[in-house]
Amino acid sequence: MPERDGDSVRVCVRCRPMNDTEKGQGCTQVVNVDTVRKNITVSHKDHTSRGEPPKTFSFDQVYAPDSKQADLYNETARPIVDFVLEGYNGTIFAYGQTGTGKTFTMEGVRAIPELRGVIPNSFAHIFGHIAKAEGDTRFLVRVSYLEIYNEEVRDLLGKDQHQRLEVKERPDIGVYVKDLSAFVVNNADDMDRIMTLGNKNRSTGSTNMNEHSSRSHAIFTCTVECSEKGADGEQHVRVGKLHLVDLAGSERQAKTGATGQRLKEATKINLSLSTLGNVISALVDGKSSHIPYRNSKLTRLLQDSLGGNSKTAMIANVGPADYNYDETISTLRYANRAK
Ligand code: ADP
Ligand code: MG
Repeated sequence: MPERDGDSVRVCVRCRPMNDTEKGQGCTQVVNVDTVRKNITVSHKDHTSRGEPPKTFSFDQVYAPDSKQADLYNETARPIVDFVLEGYNGTIFAYGQTGTGKTFTMEGVRAIPELRGVIPNSFAHIFGHIAKAEGDTRFLVRVSYLEIYNEEVRDLLGKDQHQRLEVKERPDIGVYVKDLSAFVVNNADDMDRIMTLGNKNRSTGSTNMNEHSSRSHAIFTCTVECSEKGADGEQHVRVGKLHLVDLAGSERQAKTGATGQRLKEATKINLSLSTLGNVISALVDGKSSHIPYRNSKLTRLLQDSLGGNSKTAMIANVGPADYNYDETISTLRYANRAK
């Protein structure tokens, strides 16, 4: 497969295992992951009646239901974190229908080392790198955590959880969130504590945490500043930014019969996700002169970390069972277009 554009956008798909409920209900596994050919085939359980042959999609990497968190980290996340440590920007997204493993992929089970996801593994990686720094090299790590809900930005580490923040732009620093809090962290445990605090705040004001997280985008940003003495004897500062993004559920809202406020929210979720798809596909395509960053808060905020000199990984998550067929196909199409 030819390398695209220095491999600045990498798209992979992960299929979670069948859960006990699905097994109990006798669901059929309709997703097949071929890790050698790096493709995914989905067959409809009664494809003859629907007249649909199995569909195959190929990606930069694929992860089967028995894939290991460590393999996903090493292949898909580690190169981006290394790049950030060198002073560039990187973004890692988890995309997919609610219940397919976005949070499992990003956070995992933090108490069990081999089940830790991308976020805790990246914390350990960053501070492991810093511990090895020699001589006059100094690092400063800061973190922020925000949520986009209904196209409104909320600081998950802020004092006032009811405050909505403004997205601004300045010629010198580009797009930023006014008054967003940032904390200096000294080790992976500090980072972990801050993330946990932000996660608690995510549920503030919502009666149903699952429903809330399935409708909002959470962006954890880690800024790594490295100052070191150059060949000229002067201190040089490089700044890299890492965004770790647990996206809102990609499920189409028609199915849930949303009306009123819910429908309004759904339209906005879809706007951010479809704009993200358009931005990434325009970047990958490389021929578009216009990248529609401004069409959603999500893409606007991540503008300086998508495309250009940055690296992006999109991890699209799918469920294995027959009843998810339509959503699975829709996720694979989305991911396929981004690659
Ligand atoms: P999402 O964030 O996309 O809504 P979750 O990450 O909460 O989905 O996953 C739904 C359920 O499936 C959770 O109980 C999670 O632990 C489990 N799960 C998801 N992916 C995997 C996986 N790869 N291996 C084992 N369990 C998984
Ligand atoms: Mg989740």
